[in-house]
Amino acid sequence: MDESNDNLKHHCGVAGFFSAEPANLPEKLFYSLFSLQHRGQESAGISYRKNGKTITYKDLGMVSTVLSRYLTLDRHATAGIGHVRYSTRGGNRLENAQPIAVTCNKGDIALAHNGNISNAAKLHDELTDSGSIFQTTSDTELILHMIALSRKKDFYEALMETLNRLEGAFSMVLIHDDSMIVIRDPHGFRPLYIGMKNGVTAAASETCALETLNMTEYRQVEPGEIIIIDAEGQRSSFLNPAGKVSQCIFELIYFARPDSRVFDESVHGTRKRMGAALWKCDPVKGDVVVPVPDSGNNAAIGYAEASGIPFDHGLTRNHYAGRSFIMPTTAQRELAVRMKLHPIRETIAGKKIILVDDSLVRGTTSKILVKMLKDAGAAEVHLRLSSPELKWPCFFGIDIPTREELISNSKSSNEIAEYIGADSVMFLPVEKLKECVNESDNYCYACFCGEYPVKVE
Ligand code: SF4
Repeated sequence: MDESNDNLKHHCGVAGFFSAEPANLPEKLFYSLFSLQHRGQESAGISYRKNGKTITYKDLGMVSTVLSRYLTLDRHATAGIGHVRYSTRGGNRLENAQPIAVTCNKGDIALAHNGNISNAAKLHDELTDSGSIFQTTSDTELILHMIALSRKKDFYEALMETLNRLEGAFSMVLIHDDSMIVIRDPHGFRPLYIGMKNGVTAAASETCALETLNMTEYRQVEPGEIIIIDAEGQRSSFLNPAGKVSQCIFELIYFARPDSRVFDESVHGTRKRMGAALWKCDPVKGDVVVPVPDSGNNAAIGYAEASGIPFDHGLTRNHYAGRSFIMPTTAQRELAVRMKLHPIRETIAGKKIILVDDSLVRGTTSKILVKMLKDAGAAEVHLRLSSPELKWPCFFGIDIPTREELISNSKSSNEIAEYIGADSVMFLPVEKLKECVNESDNYCYACFCGEYPVKVE
């Protein structure tokens, strides 16, 4: 475990472009994937269609390192897809980087996937029993095997048959020969948007990736929707319904960028409502509202606005601190956190601090942060979390530690406060969280309550 980063891990991000007239789509992919870098920092890659061939380039590393070559050369293409990855399933190995591109009996296919297939183990067993040899340990490769092995001769029929057998989370972009296909699973776990400008159609996990390219007219890809884009235009159809829509509430709490819209909600606005709701639940009298940057920023603004308590920066984040290694001693762990977050004494000394963050995982970082604030002279530290208590793992694309590691499974709020040295700790109750979003029934809350919208293996 990286002790200096006790946050949940982002999953993946996808982007795709189609242009009937060849355009520099690899460059557009660079900028849109750069905007989605927060969704995965382990690998990046693109596939694009040029002169009847699908070309793929991917590697371990950040977008600026792996894909910067696409800023210097104009590679005109008619379709292109891209991916940034954090390894929720499968290790951080080059062969697991995406897009995964193959040539098979159904044509040239390249696929980029955000999510987790929750019946992957069963499908994997079926495929290996029938002779499939896997090149990767990622669940995404299953989809390509299923399409290739389908008895349906037509690619679209094989694709529909395959998608209707998948369970779990899949927001995907795919190139098939000269077309692009955009797909969102029927539960809609992960976000996906589509827009169009100047004859170029674009899809991306979050709207920030479209707005970076000045594309401000877009819409959400609906749960279960499949959109085929080719030289003849756009056609939309739907997968078989699979129960209730269950969009991941953690996209709004933590994962998505605050300037994005996901699930047709403003991320910034929703987080502010969560902060305001926290204040209303327990209006503790503090001197200053301090966010844990950057994850607590937006909720802290909402808390400060609702309470009238001044907002101020009491912690500075060092954006150049990368991943650190496992630290064997408490002193080293403290130093690793100090490398990333450091107190601003004049905001803190002698004050009752309302410290706002998005969630509490193991409590290790919070314990160090509270000590840091008290060492800098804070009179009191009251920790406020804009999510409910995290108690269950996720099977739909988020890397949540085991139940034993999650602090809320073994300790009450008062016990957590005692453990991390805070004067009080409060979580946003699930019912209050639901009041912060429109159509609250269309969300997944399984990591708080253990009620999974899909049967998990
Ligand atoms: S279990 Fe939690 S993290 Fe996973 S999809 Fe549901 S709300 Fe999101």
